Amino acid sequence: MIELAEAIALVEATAAPLPRRRVRLLDACGLALAEPVVADVDSPPWDRAMMDGFAVRSEDVAAASGGVVALDVVVDLAAGDVTSLVIRPGGCARIMTGAPIPAGADAVIPVECVLDDSDAAHAGGRVRLRDEKFRPGQHVARQGVAFRAGDAVLPAGSVLGAAEIGLAAEAGAVHVVAAARPRVAILSTGSELVPPEAVPAFGQTRNSNGPMLAAAVQLLGAEPIPLGIAADRPEAIRAAVAQGLAADVLLLSGGVSAGDLDLVPDIFRRCGVEKLFHKVRHKPGKPVWFGVFRRAAAAPTLVFGLPGNPASSLVCFELFVRPAVMILGRRPRDAWHLPRSRARLATPVKAAADRPVYLPCRLDGSPDALTATPLPWTGSSDLRGFAGANGYVALPAGGAIHDAGSLVDVVLRS
Ligand code: AMP
Ligand code: MG
Repeated sequence: MIELAEAIALVEATAAPLPRRRVRLLDACGLALAEPVVADVDSPPWDRAMMDGFAVRSEDVAAASGGVVALDVVVDLAAGDVTSLVIRPGGCARIMTGAPIPAGADAVIPVECVLDDSDAAHAGGRVRLRDEKFRPGQHVARQGVAFRAGDAVLPAGSVLGAAEIGLAAEAGAVHVVAAARPRVAILSTGSELVPPEAVPAFGQTRNSNGPMLAAAVQLLGAEPIPLGIAADRPEAIRAAVAQGLAADVLLLSGGVSAGDLDLVPDIFRRCGVEKLFHKVRHKPGKPVWFGVFRRAAAAPTLVFGLPGNPASSLVCFELFVRPAVMILGRRPRDAWHLPRSRARLATPVKAAADRPVYLPCRLDGSPDALTATPLPWTGSSDLRGFAGANGYVALPAGGAIHDAGSLVDVVLRS
């Protein structure tokens, strides 16, 4: 059995970044950029109307008496329309949001400011406008205010979420250079396990780890490869492990503790997986196993044997698998682990005597004044206490009682 910090350090030292790849922008969601995205255009690419109304010369409005300005409408411009007309003193353009501001004009007066009959306010007509809040340059997004051609709008390391994908698209990045997406095979072992769609018969247990781990993998921007369920027979587990070793990471759950049918460590050994640790002084999740399958011509496969109990499996995923997947995916170091902080306990809790423990909790308040409310939780087979938890209270070993109001370490989950 090893200490938690030592186990995490072993994972960090073993995981290595996957190669960078050129991928289509839409295939890059959730990946970290390995090269910056450089814009090929200004944004906006030209001065853009931000309201439906009239493109005017600010000096005409300043010169108007009684707050009312009367102007000749020289052209109608919808989004997509362009004109070579120049707006001269006393003129304006009827303009829709998203159209380029014509030369000469520098502000937009919204259509709501039209006095009289607005039907006349088209090209060839005359319009009277009153805008009590007018300021020069209003309702115009100037060329290049958001970014300039040549700007690195997304630096290397940016993780591509919806906003980043949109920005990259606007900047003309049809393809981006990103970390390869880690492929994570997921295998559930146990003769008692049945798929979630089955109603468990007496003695059977639904495979909740499979979907749970697949979701956890996906949330890190990696690709889950579900391998289903293997019964507690060496040949069944061996065949599935052999398949899983083709992935970047193999996550196996169940069969790693000390029972008669805990066959997994022996199977890993026979499959040529080198053991780096087995059992970590932590609760929940003590039985966790970690090793590496090295081969000559390709990157190694990281192999995790997670405990079968779902809550233990999830905690081990967050402690050990998460940093591995983040490193493979070329994420910056500050993203490898869930963030930690300090919080005040809302109710007292008791630490475990022999091991550091994570207790699911609800964290409320501002980042510098957090309150931790431990959630009802019956132990490592109970996922319900975890479902609403946005954090853990992390207590050192020693069996101490931590009173309400005392400051404790917490881990922030999202
Ligand atoms: P094991 O680690 O194989 O000794 O399993 C510990 C406990 O976790 C047992 O009660 C198993 O039935 C349960 N368990 C194992 N694998 C899963 C799974 N994939 N989904 C839900 N429970 C599981
Ligand atoms: Mg089992």
